[in-house]
Amino acid sequence: MTRFKIGQKLLALLLAVSLGPLVVVTLFLVNSAQHKLRTDAVNQQKQAAINAADRVDTFLGDKTDILIFQSQTSAARQFDIPNTNLNLAALVKQDRDIQRVSLVDKTGMERVAVDQNGLIAKHENVSSSDPFKSATFLAGKEYIGPVQYVNGKPHVVIAVPLIRFTEQQDLTHLSTAEFGTYRSADDIQGVMIADFSLANLWQSVLATKIGSDGYAYVVDDKGNLIAHPDSAFLSSHRDVSRVHEVAEFLASQNSADIGRSEKGVPVLASYKAITRSSWGVIVEEPTASVFASVNSIYRIGVGIMIGVAIVAIVCSLLFRRQLLVPIQLIAAGAMRIGRGDFRYKIPVRTNDELGDLAHSFNSMGGSLEAFVHDLQKRNASLSEERRKQSSILESVSDGIIAINKKGEIVLINAPAAALIGKKPADLTGASFREHFILMVNERPFALNVTRAGIYHYDDLVLPYADKLSYLELVVAVVEDMQDIAAIITVHDLTPGRELEVMKLDFVAIAAHELRTPLTVVRGYLDLVNSSPEISRLTVMNLEYLQRAQSGVSQLSGLINNILNVSRIERGTLHVNLTKVDLGEILARAVVQQRVSAVLKQQHLGYAPPKEQTFVAADESAINEVVTNLINNAIKYTPEGGHISVAAERVGDFVRVEVGDDGQGIPDGAKANLFTKFYRVENSMTTGNRGTGLGLFISKSIISLHHGEIGVVSKLGEGSTFYFTLPLYDERTQHNVNKESEELDDIHGWFPKRTNR
Ligand code: ADP
Repeated sequence: MTRFKIGQKLLALLLAVSLGPLVVVTLFLVNSAQHKLRTDAVNQQKQAAINAADRVDTFLGDKTDILIFQSQTSAARQFDIPNTNLNLAALVKQDRDIQRVSLVDKTGMERVAVDQNGLIAKHENVSSSDPFKSATFLAGKEYIGPVQYVNGKPHVVIAVPLIRFTEQQDLTHLSTAEFGTYRSADDIQGVMIADFSLANLWQSVLATKIGSDGYAYVVDDKGNLIAHPDSAFLSSHRDVSRVHEVAEFLASQNSADIGRSEKGVPVLASYKAITRSSWGVIVEEPTASVFASVNSIYRIGVGIMIGVAIVAIVCSLLFRRQLLVPIQLIAAGAMRIGRGDFRYKIPVRTNDELGDLAHSFNSMGGSLEAFVHDLQKRNASLSEERRKQSSILESVSDGIIAINKKGEIVLINAPAAALIGKKPADLTGASFREHFILMVNERPFALNVTRAGIYHYDDLVLPYADKLSYLELVVAVVEDMQDIAAIITVHDLTPGRELEVMKLDFVAIAAHELRTPLTVVRGYLDLVNSSPEISRLTVMNLEYLQRAQSGVSQLSGLINNILNVSRIERGTLHVNLTKVDLGEILARAVVQQRVSAVLKQQHLGYAPPKEQTFVAADESAINEVVTNLINNAIKYTPEGGHISVAAERVGDFVRVEVGDDGQGIPDGAKANLFTKFYRVENSMTTGNRGTGLGLFISKSIISLHHGEIGVVSKLGEGSTFYFTLPLYDERTQHNVNKESEELDDIHGWFPKRTNR
């Protein structure tokens, strides 16, 4: 697309604004002047044409009337030759236009002939002449012949018939030639023929002047030129019937038109027919002279336009000089400043807005320089900061990953990338989700970063290249950092886990290995106990034996507990759920613990369930739990206390309670009661020995049964431990293991013995 600059646009605008109205006004003026001039000229021409035609009409009428008058004198009618001679000679003397006049009889023989020199002696036979034939043939009307030039002088022949006279002669119709009474050709007695010179008539007609160059000429009904002011033209151009104006006249007789003249010039012409002879007067004026004044208006208009255009061009040049040049300088300067040449000064020093603008640009250059300098400094310190940050990031042993809202990795350090065997550069911009395929409890883990906050996830597993990494994630979801949605700190737990597993393996193996010699010791002690030789032992020896048995029992319980704890932690503790009668388990456990209660003078009560209650449970495991709870109640209740065991159904569950009125548990200890190795402080001070593992194991067992375990207790008043178990579902039997498994080797539940 053509791009016009402001200067060109302004010039175009100036020209349009100044010349537009001028052109319109000029055209309007020219048009209206042209119209008026044409109207005026046409009116003038018409009037002139009418005047000229009138003159010719009058001439022909007068001449005809004279002849009619002469023809109607009795001398003429009666061919009274002497009198007629006199009359005609007088007529010729009176009318200098008459060149020759004759009286012709019926046979066409001249009887009298007179010219300007007097009577003519030699009479001619004119019977075959046009005037004679025409006048007789026209039957009583005059004949006006064609215009003829003899020796360069125009002539016309007019003839009138001599009609028989009657008393009713009406001379009022002389002008229409309806004189005399014409009934038949016999009424025509002769013809009077006169030859008239048109020189004087033409002189007056051709004297017509219109405007500066307008003139009149006369044509006959055949388009022959019969009078023209230019005699040379006249003699060489007789037939002008093809000239536009003439043809128009022949067609329409009276009108006005613009066309080419007989001389080929554009003219405005008007024409008027002559009544008596069907000739016509054409008055014409060259259009150049008709519209001469318009042309001057036109010329003035064009002159003004040229003047205005020059002024517009000058104005636009001035504008260019005054405005555009400074603007161009400012634009070029602004570009230079934009490219970084901040010290460049735009050389516009005019005392106007443009000067101000240039000044502003110049001072802006200074400010920009300072700004850019400042920016560069900041950039440098920012890079330094970045460098520090990245070296901090790289020096951290934990993995750090920043992701954006689309889940793409924005930043990642080497330890994080190493988890999947990559380098940070490989992962920048990559999808976190696609590269870090995290699992939790063997299910895919999806990181949610929609809500701000700090989220903690442990036990996450990241499988990569045939090995598992155990990870702990702290995810800080942020809202106000532009391209960062979350910062993830990855702590690799794998080394700790491996150590833990090794420890658990060691404990399990050690405990297992301890059980074998212990079983041997216990076997021998039982052997001694059941031997008949026992009666030979002293009281002292008996007590030693009993202490050894008790110690072995305690050790065996402790080893069992340690084994169970290691199974729980390694995830290898399983329960074999079968349909068992809870009442029976409870009753057996109560019976087993009764000795211990009696030894402490405690009352151990049991309220069995109201109806037989089957639960889906591992019998030995539940026995372990119940025994542990009764054992604890006996242990932490002073002598003479009350212990109660009860069970009742609640919905689809059965709730077992072991209550006592012993020392109770302080509120602050309740939360930790079921954790590993936890013991309430005062219970330790009361001298009861224990490991702090019983309740931890019990909770694990109840969890595996999909039940709940808890305590209600008040310090000094007693405690009630309870647990729930799902009832055995008779209809679906879905909550028991279908095949009974031999699990003894996996979990040998040994009833805890009292510590005493
Ligand atoms: P242990 O009895 O071997 O110490 P437990 O896990 O069985 O371990 O019990 C943990 C702690 O809970 C005990 O040390 C004791 O302080 C407290 N506790 C358990 N049962 C009772 C109870 N019935 N009354 C008071 N405190 C109890």
